[in-house]
Amino acid sequence: MKLSSLLGAVCAAILTTSALAATTPTVTISVDATTAPRKIFHASLKIPAAPGDLTLYYPKWIPGEHAPDGPVIDLAGLKFSAAGKPLKWRRDLLDGFTLHIDVPSGVTEINAELDFLSPATFEGGFSAGSSATDKLAIISWNQVLLYPKGYKSDDINYSASLKLPDGWKFGTPLPIASLSGNEIKFATVSLTTLVDSPVITGEFLKVVPLASDPVTEMDIAADSAAALEPPQETWDHYKSLVDQAQKLFGAHHYRDYHFLYTLSDHVAHFGLEHHESDDSRVDERGLIDDTSRKLSASLLPHEYVHSWNGKFRRPAGLATPDYEEPMKDDLLWVYEGLTNYLGFVLTARSGLLTPDQDRDDLALTAAALDHLPGREWRNLQDTADAAPQLYFSPGPWQSWRRSTDFYAEDTLNWLWVDVIIRQQTQGKKTLDDFCHLFHGAPTTGPMVKPYTFDDVVNTLNQVVAYDWHAFWTDRLTNHGPGAPLGGIQGSGWKVVYDETPSELGAAGTGFNHTVDAMYSLGLDLREDGGVNDTIEGMPAAKAGIGPGMKVIAVNGRHFSGDILREAIKAAKTSTSPIELLVENTDYYKTYKLDYHGGEKYPHLVRDESKPDMLTEILKAK
Ligand SMILES: [Zn+2]
Repeated sequence: MKLSSLLGAVCAAILTTSALAATTPTVTISVDATTAPRKIFHASLKIPAAPGDLTLYYPKWIPGEHAPDGPVIDLAGLKFSAAGKPLKWRRDLLDGFTLHIDVPSGVTEINAELDFLSPATFEGGFSAGSSATDKLAIISWNQVLLYPKGYKSDDINYSASLKLPDGWKFGTPLPIASLSGNEIKFATVSLTTLVDSPVITGEFLKVVPLASDPVTEMDIAADSAAALEPPQETWDHYKSLVDQAQKLFGAHHYRDYHFLYTLSDHVAHFGLEHHESDDSRVDERGLIDDTSRKLSASLLPHEYVHSWNGKFRRPAGLATPDYEEPMKDDLLWVYEGLTNYLGFVLTARSGLLTPDQDRDDLALTAAALDHLPGREWRNLQDTADAAPQLYFSPGPWQSWRRSTDFYAEDTLNWLWVDVIIRQQTQGKKTLDDFCHLFHGAPTTGPMVKPYTFDDVVNTLNQVVAYDWHAFWTDRLTNHGPGAPLGGIQGSGWKVVYDETPSELGAAGTGFNHTVDAMYSLGLDLREDGGVNDTIEGMPAAKAGIGPGMKVIAVNGRHFSGDILREAIKAAKTSTSPIELLVENTDYYKTYKLDYHGGEKYPHLVRDESKPDMLTEILKAK
């Protein structure tokens, strides 16, 4: 039985390869990353071509980034040739990612040479942000290649090789054909698979096995050897994450899986999902510092969930044939929102955070969303529809502009769904059953199964009959007031505010060097008094203070976080306003805040009138 099934698999693989060979063009790409510490990468490509106009694209809509943010501005040194002779080219006047090359008669292949200039300073921009240091680099293939018009990314192959700095190790989900010195030759794969398979490399790189069937490992690059030595229990929690995710979904859709984790203070910090890996980046001490580890605890659970929810099951509008066709972001409340909820759940189930800490996290989420006057004009659906712009919105005015709230607000909404399922079935069914149906068996390699709004509603109805269509329509189109707290309340908890920050809340302000007076004065400050943001309708905004100003003094004394907190405390038993001396565009003015409510920090506390469903949800399976 075992032998024959193995034989069947081998035959299928041979057939597929020969079928591909006859019809699928192959681009050859050699990337030189030996100059990674200088933050410049060189690539040489051989691209099949026919005489006439050849249209080449630089990848524009990057999967998982939900926006046309391919870093074309960092493409340099572009030169085309055929049989040693240079070719003329011109950029398309209507699309800066499209290049036209004149291919002379008799030519069947052209050469392209290009450089990718990786940003040199710490900055955002997701995978296009800073990605290389003196000791490590992450290579995202979409940044160093071009592809010809006329092919789906599934229908054109790339044969890639990569040269690394001497002595650097690497990790990647991309299958390897051969290794020679510091040069890796990869197996020929589709353009889809290549772009989906980044390479992490560095002088200090640690491979931590998490599971053997299928192979699941962490490939961690850091700016120091010390950053790779957290307490043993950290590895145990990540092993448990893999186990708990398998139990949540009941199957998987990758051949093997690599957590590519970068620990550096000099690269952009974010997480980007792939079918068989994730490119996640946090500060250098992200594993060894207790506070930092807590603050980034939910990152890998979130990105790992994406292998099922986002890569395998994908909204139809995001399942585009190449990187040029625009994506439609309207279902990001499932793609990102459900992922965020399941990441939150798995963070507790795996032990990466304690249930207490995970509840702190939920309280912070609920409080932020409950102080969002912008929902008066922008509903949740519009935060998804406008995602290509909102991902790049500046920090200030968040309460009025709103941001990519389909992450945080849909954490609350999917909790609400989980609670409704449990209530309607007397605890016999849960959202885990939805995940089994929607994301589960059979186990496959990487593939995309697109879905629509109706598919989500229909699968929920398979778990338990309920008016899910009306539920989600209301969640997506209502204008509040206030956050959707039905899930928290239904799970036996309530959001309260007291005068002591939670462990996770205090960790966040300490790490970010901020002063949190958000839910008292409606004021988010830097440690130097600079106003990051104000909340519309709250005391600071009502008094006339706005983002970009700077608090110089509190009640006549030089500003500090402690001085402000003491003034808020003292005002509780006084009728005098809190006086803030504020600098604004070189002018000074005193603002009077008539506030006497004391400090306010959010927490979850038990509502003993209801069963404690949340604790049940966060328990390891
Ligand atoms: Zn995500």
